[in-house]
Amino acid sequence: MKIVVCIKQVPDTNEVKLDPVTNTLIRDGVPSIINHDDKSGIEAALRLREKVGGTVTVVCMGPPQADVALREALAMGCDEAFLLSSREFGGSDTYATATVISAALKKIGFDLIITGRQAIDGDTAQVGPQIAEILKIPQVSYAENVDVEGDKIIVKRQFEDRYHIIEIKTPCLITALTELAEPRYMSVRGIIEAYEKEVKVYNFDDLKDSLNPAHIGLKGSPTNVYRSFTKQAKGQGTLYTDISADEAVRVIIEKLEERHII
Ligand SMILES: Cc1cc2nc3c(=O)[nH]c(=O)nc-3n(C[C@H](O)[C@H](O)[C@H](O)COP(=O)(O)OP(=O)(O)OC[C@H]3O[C@@H](n4cnc5c(N)ncnc54)[C@H](O)[C@@H]3O)c2cc1C
Repeated sequence: MKIVVCIKQVPDTNEVKLDPVTNTLIRDGVPSIINHDDKSGIEAALRLREKVGGTVTVVCMGPPQADVALREALAMGCDEAFLLSSREFGGSDTYATATVISAALKKIGFDLIITGRQAIDGDTAQVGPQIAEILKIPQVSYAENVDVEGDKIIVKRQFEDRYHIIEIKTPCLITALTELAEPRYMSVRGIIEAYEKEVKVYNFDDLKDSLNPAHIGLKGSPTNVYRSFTKQAKGQGTLYTDISADEAVRVIIEKLEERHII
């Protein structure tokens, strides 16, 4: 099975810094990591490969520095890595990002695509489902467990107060929750080998056969960030400890009445 995992390099913090003029993320000077959900996706892919054979490819769209994230994935045991990097891709919103990644996936080939559910910086959870839509393949989101039986992928999907067990045929896409699989550590040998392998770079010219310039980059992005700002911290709430349920109800009603909410 050819498994491709899409990984995003994200700042190692929840404090995303934004450029107040361009409203885009400032990456310079911020330490970066592989997005948590994506790392679980890598681990799940490696376990599937161990079970049924095949290859695990990692793909990342980002600036040249994202090479480090791809090498970390190689050091975990992935077979090959692609960096999608080009001036034309800069300023892409989620739709344009998914468009570029889909073009690369078409070229690379795939049976199963794994993306994270959500990136910890952009936080939209849109890119995985958008890739599936663009490639016109079925998708299962919120995967908490994944297995293969014959030509079927069995996904345990987290859904509010219950789980769905979904069978899906390849080619397909799943979006991974952090709980999907505890990522393994890189081995020393893996790290050495990762730096001996090539990270292949696809730029605009490599993908132009299936890329419409009108659908990528800042100009091709239908989303326009109007303004971004840090939320004002709210005042500290009042903490009531060791009170009974009846007492808690009384206090809540009192507070709501005080504010004329009820
Ligand atoms: C108008 C506009 C301009 C923007 N300009 C820039 C910019 O110049 N530079 C910039 O860094 N960001 C920019 N962004 C943010 C960028 O669009 C998002 O970071 C990106 O589309 C991913 O969205 P997300 O973080 O919400 O990912 P989610 O949709 O939450 O991610 C879900 C999963 O999709 C996969 N995925 C997401 N992004 C990538 C990726 N790049 N490579 C591989 N897999 C991925 C991962 O598996 C991830 O777990 C811009 C956004 C907008 C709206």
